[in-house]
Amino acid sequence: MFTQFNSSSNIPHWLQVLLSEKFYNACIIHEDAKKNEKNVYCLDCCISLCPQCLFPHRSHRLLQIRRYVYNDVVRLDDAAKLIDCTSVQSYYTNSAKVVFLNQRPQTRNFRGSGNICSTCYRNLQHPFHFCSLFCKVSFFFLLQIFILFNFSSGFFLIHVLITKFLIFFILSAKSFHVA
Ligand SMILES: [Zn+2]
Ligand SMILES: [Zn+2]
Ligand SMILES: [Zn+2]
Repeated sequence: MFTQFNSSSNIPHWLQVLLSEKFYNACIIHEDAKKNEKNVYCLDCCISLCPQCLFPHRSHRLLQIRRYVYNDVVRLDDAAKLIDCTSVQSYYTNSAKVVFLNQRPQTRNFRGSGNICSTCYRNLQHPFHFCSLFCKVSFFFLLQIFILFNFSSGFFLIHVLITKFLIFFILSAKSFHVA
């Protein structure tokens, strides 16, 4: 079964792929089909699927990806069965709560004041700490690395600051890569 993501575990492979996968593109295999948007993720095979791809995966664990303000989201109920979504901001859409998979491009108010995402500094509502699953996973993953390597050094706080800088750097690189 799935490993619950927390600050002391490695990121499971299915989660790494989920957070780097692109959804709602046309399926290359079913280019000519009417409904060929890749909107399902197979947790067993770690691939995105269009409705035409589904048949061989029907007995696998599948996650429905949805769209909300032009971004990939999953229902909070679905996501919460797989990972700990505490502190990730959720939104109401079609009477269900959803969470963003990835951080969204920054618009104005880049560095917000008040309550902000601990990873990308996007403005958030109280009491959330992360804008997306990606921001939460990156934050704890990098924090974990630095704690492991530097726990005995006595410079823990300094390394937390360095970690936050690195997260920002990596996210900038990721946004650039996606664009
Ligand atoms: Zn397909
Ligand atoms: Zn599958
Ligand atoms: Zn964020």
